[in-house]
Amino acid sequence: MSEMKDIQNEKPARSRNFIEEIIEEDIREGKNDSRVHTRFPPEPNGYLHIGHAKSICLNFGLADKYNGLTNLRFDDTNPVKEDVEYVDSIMEDVRWLGFDWGDRLYYASDYFGQLYEYAVILIKKGKAYICDMPAEEISATRGTPTRPGKESPYRNRTVEENLDLFGRMRAGEFPDGTRVLRAKIDMSSPNMHMRDPILYRILHTNHHRTGDAWCIYPMYDFAHGESDSIERITHSICTLEFEVHRPLYDWLIREIDIYAPRQIEFARLNLSYTVMSKRKLLELVKEKYVQGWDDPRMPTICGLRRRGYTPESIRNFADIIGVAKRDNMIDVSLLEFCIREDLNKQANRVMGVLNPVKVIIDNYPERQVEEMEAAVNPENPEAGTRKVPFSKELYIEREDFMEDPPNKFFRLAPGREVRLRAAYIIKCESVEKDPVTNEITAIHCYYDVNTKSGMPDSNRKVKGTLHWVSASHAVEVDVRLYDRLFVVPDPDNAEEGKNFKDYLNPDSLTEVKGYLEPSIRDAKIGEKYQFERLGYFVVDKDSKAKSLVFNRVVPLRDSWARIEGQK
Ligand code: ATP
Ligand code: MG
Repeated sequence: MSEMKDIQNEKPARSRNFIEEIIEEDIREGKNDSRVHTRFPPEPNGYLHIGHAKSICLNFGLADKYNGLTNLRFDDTNPVKEDVEYVDSIMEDVRWLGFDWGDRLYYASDYFGQLYEYAVILIKKGKAYICDMPAEEISATRGTPTRPGKESPYRNRTVEENLDLFGRMRAGEFPDGTRVLRAKIDMSSPNMHMRDPILYRILHTNHHRTGDAWCIYPMYDFAHGESDSIERITHSICTLEFEVHRPLYDWLIREIDIYAPRQIEFARLNLSYTVMSKRKLLELVKEKYVQGWDDPRMPTICGLRRRGYTPESIRNFADIIGVAKRDNMIDVSLLEFCIREDLNKQANRVMGVLNPVKVIIDNYPERQVEEMEAAVNPENPEAGTRKVPFSKELYIEREDFMEDPPNKFFRLAPGREVRLRAAYIIKCESVEKDPVTNEITAIHCYYDVNTKSGMPDSNRKVKGTLHWVSASHAVEVDVRLYDRLFVVPDPDNAEEGKNFKDYLNPDSLTEVKGYLEPSIRDAKIGEKYQFERLGYFVVDKDSKAKSLVFNRVVPLRDSWARIEGQK
């Protein structure tokens, strides 16, 4: 409820989150000379999604708030899955969200030399050894959380032998998978990550930045913390699943004896009706369930951008959801609420009809055209007015007419009156039907000439107001109506024998024609509009000079009330 108030006042006057409390205490105590330095560390193995956006907003936001800095660092330690395509898209997305890493763009691969030296330090201290067991055997001998693991028979190799083997691993003497470097910690630790974890593996694979300079690559846990240290990151913020890695993070830094950042975990963002793992998103792309990473149904940042989301709406969303310590699921309608809020302020209004039925105004002069004046955006008086042509034949939505309506139907029906937005009050006199299908082909009306703005009866009240478009002036466009990609709130949680793809929504995309007022002709790719009474729409990049394509960002219906109701 308090959140609700904040949103309505548009002032997220929230209290400090637990990470801010930690940082403020560190500043007070003069830790790290009171510096604040965060980083956003994506692995370039996929496109960024809304969960990453949360992390980006958090890391850059904290640095902003405390006069600190944020690095963008690619954790590119797994050459098998990484690609420059992803590096480029990640930089584009971070910039688009409105954040700037200045000249602090780094790659873990830049540190391969330094990381190698760190590994040598561990070997020399007797804290790491070369293990010749194959991967399956290593995991088979790790034990379980309740049963200790078994020590490797190679665990007590001498420092000299370890140094020699590590050098030869690097020199390329051994094939993939034959040897690894392991930390020598404790095979009976209750924390599985402390049971002699692997630090380096042999991979004769070309790396997208270092080429074939290396044939051994550091494991994530080794590269990540040490890279944080090299960059003198003060607060290394990551998601909860790394909490159990923290003892290893701290152990490595202590044993190598280098600058110690502090790792802080928060709950990752989960969003209803979608999946967020890069592996699953890649599957949807590769198996063509969607049309690409930027398909407007995807929770990727490029997908949301193409869908018509604005950076402001995503930043606002990240702020509203806050920072949690426990895993939770955020309702996607909160994200939709944020984009509605933003576009309500920004988007120009136009009228358009998606499912047309013709209205003929019998008492309106043949061939007369009037230019009606309508507000470009009632939320923004400075946006001024636009002209909308009115004529004898119009389109309205088929759903806005009922031949035999119930009492509560306040739209058009035989003998009933409605106002046409920015124009006249009309009254339905009769309908024409197709003799075969019985479908209504035209609605005949009379208009009241005195009800236009500026005329004596302009304030006359009727119950319903409809949007409309002049039939002969309408611009035909393609409209893509998007719905949720999945039919269940938590597709990750598939029942036995099923997987997340079994829950894809077969109706997540519906393509229709739209008939819009002529002012839309000059719309440019990326521009957003409110189609009055229908929702927000964005001009898609598939648009051509004479044929516009619109994506529905979100319908107008305010589902915030519904979320409140569910609580
Ligand atoms: P995924 O699990 O989707 O494959 P990842 O965690 O492997 O993502 P990274 O590239 O390693 O992806 O993530 C970069 C940063 O973004 C990390 O700090 C990670 O903790 C954070 N991050 C990833 N997913 C989320 C999420 N859903 N919510 C918040 N932060 C996230
Ligand atoms: Mg990761």
